Amino acid sequence: MTQMVGALVWFAGIIGWYIIRYPFERKAKKIRVSKSLFDRRDSSILALASLGLFVIPGVYAFTGFPASLDRPFIPAIAWLGLVPLCAALWLFRRSHVDLGRNWSISLEVREQHALVKTGVYRLVRHPMYSSFFLLGLAQMLLLSNWLAGASGLVGAGVLYTFRVRREERMMLECFGDDYRPYMAHTKRLIPWII
Ligand code: SAH
Repeated sequence: MTQMVGALVWFAGIIGWYIIRYPFERKAKKIRVSKSLFDRRDSSILALASLGLFVIPGVYAFTGFPASLDRPFIPAIAWLGLVPLCAALWLFRRSHVDLGRNWSISLEVREQHALVKTGVYRLVRHPMYSSFFLLGLAQMLLLSNWLAGASGLVGAGVLYTFRVRREERMMLECFGDDYRPYMAHTKRLIPWII
């Protein structure tokens, strides 16, 4: 694999990412929201995550900026990046399918929202955030630049750190009796570990 192919593979992953998300985004518009925590704080968190996972690596992939922060390109490392990239796309799709009509880009509870505890949600409470970390890891392995490589994991970390407690508080308020035992039986990101 060459440096350019590494960047193209990363970009193909982002296209795949968007193809997975698009139908859910369209359907979500038709389902009424009964409670929303979508505020300036949450949109800033989303913007920072997008900056790290899409904008900074995108600028690098297409312009090579900032070349001063390039690291040596090692083909074996770039090949290894395919593993988390495929895993991220698989998990991203699975978590959308399992959440179904309950999915939102922000922190929202929809009319007739159901607590999902099946599929990948049987193993972890935040598989979609796990998929963001996997995408960030793939970015680091595929792009041979310190900034564009690392920014995805930072973006995923910001999203997770500043959102997860608030999200769980919201879920506890809405599904307390069901969410508490669900929390007791599951981890957040990696089954049986964290
Ligand atoms: N944090 C989850 C979901 C991200 S999408 C994940 O990483 O997979 C964000 C929306 O999903 C939130 O607005 C919340 O209403 C909803 N949500 C989160 N966990 C849920 C669950 N177990 N069942 C139903 N909806 C859930």
